[in-house]
Amino acid sequence: MNISDNLHAIKDSLPGTVKLVAVSKFHPKEAIQEAYSAGQKIFGESRMQEISLKHQQLPEDIEWHFIGHLQTNKVKAIIPYTHTIHSVDSWKLLQEIEKQAANIEKPICCLLEIHIAKEDAKYGLTFDECRKILNEGLHKQLKYAYIGGVMGMATFTDDIEQIRTEFNSLKRFYDELKNDYFPDNDQFSEISMGMSDDYKIAIEEGSTMIRVGSSIFGHREY
Ligand SMILES: *Cc1c(COP(=O)(O)O)cnc(C)c1O
Repeated sequence: MNISDNLHAIKDSLPGTVKLVAVSKFHPKEAIQEAYSAGQKIFGESRMQEISLKHQQLPEDIEWHFIGHLQTNKVKAIIPYTHTIHSVDSWKLLQEIEKQAANIEKPICCLLEIHIAKEDAKYGLTFDECRKILNEGLHKQLKYAYIGGVMGMATFTDDIEQIRTEFNSLKRFYDELKNDYFPDNDQFSEISMGMSDDYKIAIEEGSTMIRVGSSIFGHREY
């Protein structure tokens, strides 16, 4: 199977409401070009250096998503060509995104990364940390960085029921936030969950955006 076949096989299996982010980290620009030629327009990267090089070498109408952990001092560099940041895990980071986006007057979709896995190692806000930020209400003053939804990663495990429970908890938390803080806000609409090994479960649990790398591009060489 090649990249184009992999991509079509996944796309054909997705409900029309689910967006596919093709995660191209650690893969060369030729691989992205192949997926692009096969009709894919949304790509996800996790490192600042890599995304800044690649966006220069590839078609301008690609929608770049940043999915990795983001330090505040790297925000400025990625803002000009980034459409969505999936990994917003602090108010400080959101403020910095707002500042840099305001400088160039560019709207940026920000997803709040929520910690749903059992593992400690993953980043993300707890439910309570997230409620606390939104209770402050300061996000209503953001003009360019808008909160477009939530993102989460399930535990790396073979236990399908655990993965399902974690995705379900993110879907229920999204519904809570929508109801409590964003009832009339159409921008708050995305639940980014599901990767190569678990996106089918994520979709059953309400994902609107999946982030798939190895099932499209093959294994990564780190
Ligand atoms: C690498 C990565 C993915 C893609 O993982 P695959 O298992 O290759 O599909 C998705 N989301 C995040 C945050 C990642 O870092």
